[in-house]
Amino acid sequence: MSKIEFVSTRGKAPSVRFLEAMEQGLAPDGGLYMPDHWPSLLGQLWNEIRGKSIQDIGLVLSQAFIPEVPGDELTPLVEDALSFDAPLVHLHDNTYVLELFHGPTLAFKDFGARFMARMMSYQARRKGRRMVILVATSGDTGSAVGRAFEGVEGIDVCLLYPSGQVSKLQEQQLTTIGNNVTALEVDGTFDDCQKMVKDAFLDAELREDLRLSSANSINIARLLPQMFYYGRALAQYEGEDPVHFCVPSGNFGNLTAGMMAARTKMPAHQFIAGTNVNDVVPSFLTSGSFVPRPSRRTISSAMDVGNPSNLERIRALYPEMTTLNEHLWAASFDDEATKKTIRKGFREFDYIFDPHTAVGYLAARKYRKEKQSDHPVVILSTAHPAKFRDIIEPVIEHSVTMPDRLAACLEKEKQSIELEASFQALKTFLNGQY
Ligand SMILES: *Cc1c(COP(=O)(O)O)cnc(C)c1O
Repeated sequence: MSKIEFVSTRGKAPSVRFLEAMEQGLAPDGGLYMPDHWPSLLGQLWNEIRGKSIQDIGLVLSQAFIPEVPGDELTPLVEDALSFDAPLVHLHDNTYVLELFHGPTLAFKDFGARFMARMMSYQARRKGRRMVILVATSGDTGSAVGRAFEGVEGIDVCLLYPSGQVSKLQEQQLTTIGNNVTALEVDGTFDDCQKMVKDAFLDAELREDLRLSSANSINIARLLPQMFYYGRALAQYEGEDPVHFCVPSGNFGNLTAGMMAARTKMPAHQFIAGTNVNDVVPSFLTSGSFVPRPSRRTISSAMDVGNPSNLERIRALYPEMTTLNEHLWAASFDDEATKKTIRKGFREFDYIFDPHTAVGYLAARKYRKEKQSDHPVVILSTAHPAKFRDIIEPVIEHSVTMPDRLAACLEKEKQSIELEASFQALKTFLNGQY
């Protein structure tokens, strides 16, 4: 088979290689990039997965999907991105938790963001030009992306966040990075921030002069590294029965990455998704019709998504509804059930779930009951509980230990530039700065 290229889910854009797909973000026809075929050689990786490190796994998969970067140049980028592990923790019986929160900002988004940052830096170096990344954030994405690009050569980052509308902890995480990462505190809403970023991309002059790029979650460069930790789960799993993966989901990027890994012959064919009351995907699976809705606020806020963008990729992977239903099962849960599960986890298993992981646990349990299944399940744990201690502590009536790196950032001085909520203000700032 020829080398992998990336094609749009809408099929009306030229196929491009990985670095180009990364730089574009969205394909010119409005679709999302996906590999044009699945390298069959990877079957061997999965046969020999036991005991492999996250870096070993990351290297094999990166080489397969990014053939245009020579191996000796790719290796240090991948190893540097994967600077922390994803431990598999046995919770009880056949239930495991894959902890994805041991990175710099204590959430799984660190994997995708760090990988992307290093590939962007490579691309900037190759083209001999600096790049500017613009990100609108309502909290968590911005800090993961900002920290991932901290000190990365050839790239400047601007994080736009709505003033007064992110938590104190989130604001500290966003505004204390410094160096090449600037926090823009916008006097407006998250929607205003998003609109300003969108307008900046539509401004041809700005886009070209500054080489603007985005780092949002639809980018293939954030998705690809999320395949690695599915492999790392299997590398640590000692049982013989094939596992089911259960993923707390919002935009469904994490789950899509698992399905992509399955296409490369990863031995796991059942996926379970848990959502909060933003239940567009569970409804779609039962009714067959996709009806986006405005999002509702919940305590698992990183999953408050009313129009999950990666569903377009999932539908491209499984065009037939019946096949999709064979591979994916989903259910939604409200905040009450989520809190109950956080309490139960603490009392019965001595484990503290963050609200997102609790939704995952609920989905795994409901699936088991409904299907009378006793398959082993690996629940992806997407965030460290300390990030959500305001919610968790009253529920478990116990304190949540703050990891040092989070505590350290609370001590630092906030540095932000205030900006009015208009595209013109952003443009003036960007032209003056870069
Ligand atoms: C982003 C996020 C999610 C949702 O992940 P998707 O890939 O958008 O489905 C879940 N939990 C946490 C903590 C997150 O930050």
